[in-house]
Amino acid sequence: MRRALFSTFLILLPLAAGAENPPARPPVSRPANASAALAPKLVEPHLHVARSGNAVRPRVALTFDACMGQADQRILSTLVRERIPATIFVTARWLKKNPQSVAIFLQNLDLFELQNHGQNHVPAVDVPVLIYGIAAAGSPEAVRQEVSGGADAMLAAGLAAPRWFRGSTAKYDPSAIRQIRDMGYRVAGYSLNGDGGSLLGADVAEKRIAAAKDGDVVLAHINQPTHAAGEGVARALIALKRRGVEFVRLSDVDGMGDDDTTQ
Ligand SMILES: [Zn+2]
Repeated sequence: MRRALFSTFLILLPLAAGAENPPARPPVSRPANASAALAPKLVEPHLHVARSGNAVRPRVALTFDACMGQADQRILSTLVRERIPATIFVTARWLKKNPQSVAIFLQNLDLFELQNHGQNHVPAVDVPVLIYGIAAAGSPEAVRQEVSGGADAMLAAGLAAPRWFRGSTAKYDPSAIRQIRDMGYRVAGYSLNGDGGSLLGADVAEKRIAAAKDGDVVLAHINQPTHAAGEGVARALIALKRRGVEFVRLSDVDGMGDDDTTQ
């Protein structure tokens, strides 16, 4: 018994001392790479929509990013032909290059809600860092420009003022999320990565998206017409419709995101 108490004392002593006495010297171990000390804590927020609670009519929000490049007509024509509602996140870069597809969105505003994917498709992170090899905005001023530049381009293209923002790579640091929220936006995460950045094979993308569950927010890309994934995405849209899915846009129902992205 005495022995046990003594051991406990030995364990507690250094803890208590450490808690009360700050170390006189800074910790010796430091990141070998100085820039690693500046690396921000990045988050990739989840987003769900309110569930229908109806097993035969699950609710799914399809969201498509139009990052840059072209429009994937396999997906766009399926959405229009099958009258499937979706939320499209567009960049200023993409809008400039794809006026014909923008016209299709404008002709089908009962289906499409367009939201802000930024000006130049740079990650909305306010410190300098590379994400998947893409240089982040790097400062609060640059984050603001990425967000407001995207919105300005949307208004100039005849689209409604956006209320949701999704940054390039869907990663943020918490201070950038606060800043974007202060600009009046909700930040759009997702719950189901449908196409792996448009790099999945057609069958895998199809299987993933076709398995969407009640309340899922699906993320896929509508800007890579030469990638195999888009073929699978288009097939999955039809499969979801056949399953009786209720398709909603992000402004149709309450969205619940983590990392302070919606509340
Ligand atoms: Zn993107």
